[in-house]
Amino acid sequence: MTTQSITRLDLPSDQDASGRTFGAEELEQLTGVLNSGVLTSTKGSRVKQLEERFARLVGARWAYACSSGTSAVHAAVAAIDPEPGDEIVTTSITDMGALTPILYQSAIPVFADVDPRTLNVTAATLEPKLNDRTKAIVVTHLFGNPCEMDDIRTLAAERGIPVIEDCAQSFLATSGGVQVGTLGAIGCFSLQQGKHITTGEGGLVVTDDEALARRLFLFINKAWGYGDASPDHYFLALNSRMNELQGAVAVAQLDRLEGVVAARRRTAARLSEMLTGVEGIAVPWVAADHQHSYWKYCLRVDSEQVPGGADALAIELRERGIFSSPRYIRKPAFQCQVFTEQRTFGNSRFPFDHARPEAVDYRPELYPGTFSGLEQVLVMPWNERYTDDHVDGIAAAVIEAVAAVRGLA
Ligand SMILES: *Cc1c(COP(=O)(O)O)cnc(C)c1O
Repeated sequence: MTTQSITRLDLPSDQDASGRTFGAEELEQLTGVLNSGVLTSTKGSRVKQLEERFARLVGARWAYACSSGTSAVHAAVAAIDPEPGDEIVTTSITDMGALTPILYQSAIPVFADVDPRTLNVTAATLEPKLNDRTKAIVVTHLFGNPCEMDDIRTLAAERGIPVIEDCAQSFLATSGGVQVGTLGAIGCFSLQQGKHITTGEGGLVVTDDEALARRLFLFINKAWGYGDASPDHYFLALNSRMNELQGAVAVAQLDRLEGVVAARRRTAARLSEMLTGVEGIAVPWVAADHQHSYWKYCLRVDSEQVPGGADALAIELRERGIFSSPRYIRKPAFQCQVFTEQRTFGNSRFPFDHARPEAVDYRPELYPGTFSGLEQVLVMPWNERYTDDHVDGIAAAVIEAVAAVRGLA
C-alpha cells in the first residue's frame, strides 16, 4: 500500500539541518571573522563583500545588507521619505514585516486586492487604490512567483509612482528575463531562517538609483555620513546593520543560491507535471515569460470538486505524512489588530489619524480575490533537498488524498 512508503518520506525542512546547508565554507568564513577580531560591518570586509557580490548577482548597481527583511522594507520606505499620512499601496497578503515599516515611517498602508490564482497584486487591483496621495507601491512576489511586472511598471510609470519590490520569498525569480528586485526602484530581500538562503536573521536592499542608494545606506546607519568631510546624523534613522558573523555566513550561502533555486525549480516542475490534470486541484499558475523560484509550492483546491476544499485535503495529506498549510495566513493583514484597532504610538492612532476613510476601509466585500484566493490555496513547504523520490511520494499522496476527499478511494 502506497501509504506506507509515503509515511517514511521524512521530508527535509528549512527549520533544521535536514533542509539547510551550512558546511566548511560557512565555517571557514566564520573562523576568519573571529580570528580578525572585527565583528562590526563598519570595519570588517565580509558584509561589504556580500553587498558587492549580491549586487552583481541580481544585476543592481547598489546593494546594502541589513538586519532583517523587515528592516530592508523599512529602509526602502524611509528612502522614499513619505509625508505623514501619505499612502503606500500594497498587498493584503504578505508578511507583517512588509507592512509595519510603512506605519513607522508615518504613511498609511492601503491594501489592494489580489489575483486569486497567485495571491499577488496586479495592475488591475492596484489601479483603483492610486490617487494623488499615493507615494509608492510595494509589491510582494508571493511564494517566489513574480507579480506581472510589465503591467505594474507601466501603470506606476504613468503615474510617476516608485515601486518597491518585496523579494523576501523570490530570490532569482524573473519577469521578462529580468530578476525581481531590479524591476522597480528598490528591491528588498530576507535572509531569515526559512528563506532560500539564510543567516538566521538578515536582509538586503538593492537599487540602481544613486539618490535612493544614499538614503538606504544612511537609514541603515543611523543616518551618519560615514566617509563625508564633515559627517553628521542627517535625519531620523535606526541602526539596522548586519554584523560580520552574519556577513560571513551570507557570503558562503550566496554561493549556494543558484543551486538552491535550480533544485527547487526542477523538483517543482516534476510535481507540477505529475499533478497536472488531477481533477479538483490546480498546479501553480505562472505568467508567460516569468520564472517562479519556489519558496513554497502552492496548489489551488476547488471546493466544488473537493468537498471541504483545502482544509479537508490538508487533513488527508497529514494522515499520509505530508504537512501543508491551508490558507497560508489565517486572515488578510488588514484584519490583524494593528489595523483593526489602529494600535500604534500610545493612544494617538498615528498615522491612522491622518488617513482618508477610504484608505482604511477594510470591508471584506472590497477584497473578493483575497478571500477566494486564501480559501483555495494549499501551501506546501518546499526545499532544495527534495529528491525525485520525495516528489513522487508527495504526488502519490496528493492524488490519493484528493480521491479520498472526493469519496472515490
Ligand atoms: C520573511 C518576509 C518578510 C520579513 O522578513 P524578516 O527577515 O522575517 O524580517 C517580509 N516580507 C515577506 C514577503 C517575507 O516573506
